[in-house]
Amino acid sequence: MKGTLKPLILALTLAGLAPSVALAESQSASAAEVKEQSKTHVVMLGTGTPTLQHKRAGQAILVVVDKEMYLFDAGPGFVRNFKALAGQDFMPPDVMFTNESVYGAMDKVFITHLDSDHVLGLPELLLRPWILGRDQPMKVIGPKGTQKLVDNSLAAFKDDIDHRLYGTQPANANGYKGEVTEISETQIVHQDDKVTVKAFRVPHGSWDEGMSFGYRVETPTKTIVISGDTRMDEANYEHFKGADILIHEVMHEGAIAAMPEDWQQYMYHAHTSTRQLAEIAKAVKPGLLVMNHPLFFGKTDEDMVAELAQHYDGKSVLASDLDIYE
Ligand SMILES: [Zn+2]
Repeated sequence: MKGTLKPLILALTLAGLAPSVALAESQSASAAEVKEQSKTHVVMLGTGTPTLQHKRAGQAILVVVDKEMYLFDAGPGFVRNFKALAGQDFMPPDVMFTNESVYGAMDKVFITHLDSDHVLGLPELLLRPWILGRDQPMKVIGPKGTQKLVDNSLAAFKDDIDHRLYGTQPANANGYKGEVTEISETQIVHQDDKVTVKAFRVPHGSWDEGMSFGYRVETPTKTIVISGDTRMDEANYEHFKGADILIHEVMHEGAIAAMPEDWQQYMYHAHTSTRQLAEIAKAVKPGLLVMNHPLFFGKTDEDMVAELAQHYDGKSVLASDLDIYE
């Protein structure tokens, strides 16, 4: 946008138009141009939960806007899924000398909360691309405790880091570091010339208020909302409304009903069932409802899809790793 605005103003001013008219026209023209040329893709890099499933890596959602990457969560094992994106035309070119993968261009991650199924992959995200040449610290935005997580992760790998820094392997001095911003309130956490990322508090089990977040991402062409892990709460709706793509966690209601009473209580204190998700979707009307972080407890993908369909007939999908929405 910045690139096109100035020449347009100049051209219109030279054409003799009043500056105020010129500015207004140029702004609307450039906004339209940006929208027309801009592309937003959402890639489900990891859709898993603490339950092991071979086909699902840990939680990680990548939003790519005109080749700029915005990553949400860093669950276990997701990093290798970057490899599958190499060569996709919406991805940035590889910035690493190995040309092995695209994840070297990744420089920021937004964490929903500190449950391990969402952050076990963070040390890997910090360390692995650095080995292959990333030379800038990763920006890590997350709740209170994120700094401690980054510091302690790097302390745990100190011997490895020192071996690479001070041994015979070529290594740069900053690429493994994390530049942390801790948040506790509903607030805008990132803004650039195209994208605004807003964090909003969500209630999830026994985490204190301000320790668990969803994210609302507004791009020139799409509004994407990521629920994080949350129980059903109407207070979330204001952040969900207007979403072209609502990526919401889900659990199978029938499976939960078969659990012991204390587990059922916990699950509804922390998570959202298909029936509840249907109610949410009917209220906030997303363009596409994506069921993410599916808690099956013995049920299948088909069972989950069928159970939601009993309550909701809007456009919806159960996320799988490497699904791409645009
Ligand atoms: Zn989780």
